Amino acid sequence: MLTSICGINWGDEGKGRMVDLLSGKFDIVCRYQGGNNAGHTVKNERGEFILNLLPSGILRPEVVNVMGCGMVIDIKHLCGEIQRLRDKGIEITPDNLKISDKAVITMPYNVLQDIMEEDRLTKATGKPYGSTRRGIAPIYADKYMKKAFRMGELLKPELMYKRLPDIVAWKNMTIKAYGFEPVTVDAMTDYFETYGKPLAKYVTDTGVFLNSAHDAGKSIMFEAQLGALRDIDYGIVPYTSSSSTIAAYAPIGAGVPNLKLDQSIGIMKAYSSCVGEGPFTCEYFGEKAEKLRAAGHEYGAATGRPRRVGPFDVVASRYGIRCQGADDIALTKLDVLDDYEEIEICTRYELNGELIDDFPFTDVLDECKPYIETVPGWHCDISACRKKEDLPREALDYIALLEKLCSCRIKYVSVGPERDAYIEIY
Ligand code: GDP
Ligand code: MG
Repeated sequence: MLTSICGINWGDEGKGRMVDLLSGKFDIVCRYQGGNNAGHTVKNERGEFILNLLPSGILRPEVVNVMGCGMVIDIKHLCGEIQRLRDKGIEITPDNLKISDKAVITMPYNVLQDIMEEDRLTKATGKPYGSTRRGIAPIYADKYMKKAFRMGELLKPELMYKRLPDIVAWKNMTIKAYGFEPVTVDAMTDYFETYGKPLAKYVTDTGVFLNSAHDAGKSIMFEAQLGALRDIDYGIVPYTSSSSTIAAYAPIGAGVPNLKLDQSIGIMKAYSSCVGEGPFTCEYFGEKAEKLRAAGHEYGAATGRPRRVGPFDVVASRYGIRCQGADDIALTKLDVLDDYEEIEICTRYELNGELIDDFPFTDVLDECKPYIETVPGWHCDISACRKKEDLPREALDYIALLEKLCSCRIKYVSVGPERDAYIEIY
């Protein structure tokens, strides 16, 4: 059984906690794209954990975790993340963590490039991309330029060190053009020695591992980081990530392009949030925004940045569901809407005086206005509800309306950040 769990919206839908919940049903959890540019927050009986690179299954001792070839791995960050979990009593060994030999390594100069370019953009245009400044776009660019180092090279450092001087010389051409201090071969060698060596024992051909596990009847879950609207092809370019965040890419980014997904579960938030720049049609401002932000604790897990918030956006969500090929939806954070007598929904966009239903091209989004409809709220605390029957009528109506508007079944609803704070609707 191959299942992908993906974000339907702009990210931070609560994928981490749903993966943590559902991972109990799977033998293997795989990350297949992105790097340490996003954060999953997982709360369970062992504490609260923020995961940037490690798959969420790492918190379950019986699950094997895979970091696939579609990922970009900041080895310094990964060493730190492993250490922070170990400090909290989580065991991480080559038995429960396997890193693809084909995944690429985010280098310190990629992080520098990201910072230099965001600062240049800010100065030149006043409009940065809103990057998390963790080197993700530059390392994906290096990968496609075939200049990146791959995790498998940590097993053959002599080959890596042979390539290093020319790559450093090439990279310094860019760094110097920005007016920054060039990097040195020695510093990069130290970097590999300090942070690469301790990770070498986890590096393997994850395709071989996953195929034999699949043949042996093991179930595999693919965990996306970031939502559909941050996908490099289908998202709100350029305010996207630099990788494929969609479910169809999961087998490729994990190392098993020969296998097909059996199921795609989309994680969708009961309202909207968006971190960073870019068009966000349904955005709230002022008091309305502050109330929702406070209720949902909308501050970035990786960066601490306040997230932009707004009502549920039908146009964007329906598009996200289609991009993810979602069979089922987990609707998260419904409890955040507890304190509303009336709940707003952005059901359509208004463009040049006309109402539209299809999510438009990024540039056109700037001209769109939200078309808002209002439904009655439940206006009571639902965080203790555990069964469908426990939910107030208005909450059930809200769920049913979103199902109808988005044409997709809502199988799970979450009503709190804790592992058991959810309701199975079907
Ligand atoms: P991810 O990037 O999609 O994994 O999401 P984040 O972890 O960045 O953001 C989700 C936040 O919402 C985290 O702080 C979670 O603890 C919290 N959260 C998840 N599900 C629920 C829920 O049902 N209710 C409430 N109140 N908080 C939730
Ligand atoms: Mg997040």
